[in-house]
Amino acid sequence: MITPITDPAILEGYLVDASNRPGRAELLFRPRSAEEVAEILAWCQKEAMPVTVTARRTSTTGAPVPDGGALLSTELLATIHSLTEVDGGVLLGEYQSYTEARGQLFPPDPTSRHECSVGGAIICNASGARSFLWGPTRGWVDAVELVTPTGEILKVDRTTPSPWPVPSWTEPAVKTAAGYFPATNLLDLVIGSEGTLGVVTRAHLRLVPAPAYVLGLFTWFPTRASMLGFLDEARGAGPRCIEYFDRRSLDLVRDRMPGVPEADSALFLEITHEDEEPPLEAWFDRLAHHGALLDATLVTTHDADRARLHAVRHALPAAVNEIIARNGTRKVGTDFAVPSAALPAMLDAYDQVPMEAVCFGHIGDSHLHLNLLPKTSAELERARELYGELARLALSLGGTVSAEHGIGRLKKAHLAAMVPAEVLAGWRRLKLAADPAWILGRGVMFDQA
Ligand SMILES: Cc1cc2nc3c(=O)[nH]c(=O)nc-3n(C[C@H](O)[C@H](O)[C@H](O)COP(=O)(O)OP(=O)(O)OC[C@H]3O[C@@H](n4cnc5c(N)ncnc54)[C@H](O)[C@@H]3O)c2cc1C
Repeated sequence: MITPITDPAILEGYLVDASNRPGRAELLFRPRSAEEVAEILAWCQKEAMPVTVTARRTSTTGAPVPDGGALLSTELLATIHSLTEVDGGVLLGEYQSYTEARGQLFPPDPTSRHECSVGGAIICNASGARSFLWGPTRGWVDAVELVTPTGEILKVDRTTPSPWPVPSWTEPAVKTAAGYFPATNLLDLVIGSEGTLGVVTRAHLRLVPAPAYVLGLFTWFPTRASMLGFLDEARGAGPRCIEYFDRRSLDLVRDRMPGVPEADSALFLEITHEDEEPPLEAWFDRLAHHGALLDATLVTTHDADRARLHAVRHALPAAVNEIIARNGTRKVGTDFAVPSAALPAMLDAYDQVPMEAVCFGHIGDSHLHLNLLPKTSAELERARELYGELARLALSLGGTVSAEHGIGRLKKAHLAAMVPAEVLAGWRRLKLAADPAWILGRGVMFDQA
């Protein structure tokens, strides 16, 4: 077996993810092949040594940062073998640039795509803005090479039955990434399992031809009602993304984007089309009908302009993180999705939060990120209580406690509130069957007892 690294100075660099939840580890393995991964897992199983997969650590839930044991980094599993076959540790953005240079698109686009790995995106079933049209990562994975927690190397696709007992349950009818997917085939079970059922060392992915043209629209609304009216109509017209920015978000990006008007909110849409002539008239009619601020609306038909708008969207989480760093506290961010009929109620609840907050995100899927920005440790405590109240509201409206970021180590209580006790008990039996010493991703999603 490869020799683990034990130097605390090296290990320290692996013990932080985007949640900043502290952790610790004693060993670090950096395998170069599925065979090496298998050896490590078989050894950990024999020694009952907890082992946590760490990839690019963009998780917002503490999932890749353990409370002791070994780390298994996927950073050296990083080869793009062909257009559709790629190692788990490859940077997602690098893979997407590779396919796009060849006229093909891998649709999943988490905002973190230039920082996260392909394996991380699969195992967290990541989504992003374009999942409004194309769904989350799940639909774009045909097969994986999986190393099980006992060190078996399996080729897994949708014809592979789960060797472990899977309890049946019904997910909320919204975009969700909370808990094991209710599938009896091993591929769908593993996608979204947050590093608890095996290590994805290689993946076979599905692509679509890159669209000939993409129209980008950045548009502003004077009132909530006009925004919601337009949203309803826009959803039916098939854009590939509809992203939302509240007034405070607009204030945060004002210095990066000239000409941001005074408005209640903004939406950013991307519409794919095959003709050289973009379908502008129809979109402007819709905007005019719902009272959007037409004079300020930005239209882009070129990739470079669209990239600038994307940069603004991506600058938002960074701006939020800067505020938090200045405040010396931690961000408390929601990841709830609710049925579209419940979106106005959720927005009203977000408005009433008695703390500085910024709200933006994937409104096409009724999935918004409210970022609470506490200034003191007392406010941080209050922010966590507010988060709990909002989670209960999202559940009472038929939603999910995580639409894309997953449960990790931070949201286990909320998952337990979402899922019937017998389903949690069934997942524990499944996990024990897959991982008798409960070594892999221990402490993620739910605990042993
Ligand atoms: C600024 C920002 C924006 C984000 N935007 C989005 C977004 O739009 N949509 C979205 O869905 N998520 C988003 N995320 C969350 C995060 O980027 C994704 O969950 C991502 O898929 C994690 O990939 P990673 O390589 O960083 O994995 P890590 O953070 O290193 O690990 C995440 C989990 O996956 C496990 N894991 C990683 N690789 C493997 C593997 N090969 N085999 C088995 N287990 C593995 C780890 O053990 C851990 O449990 C965002 C995060 C940040 C910081």
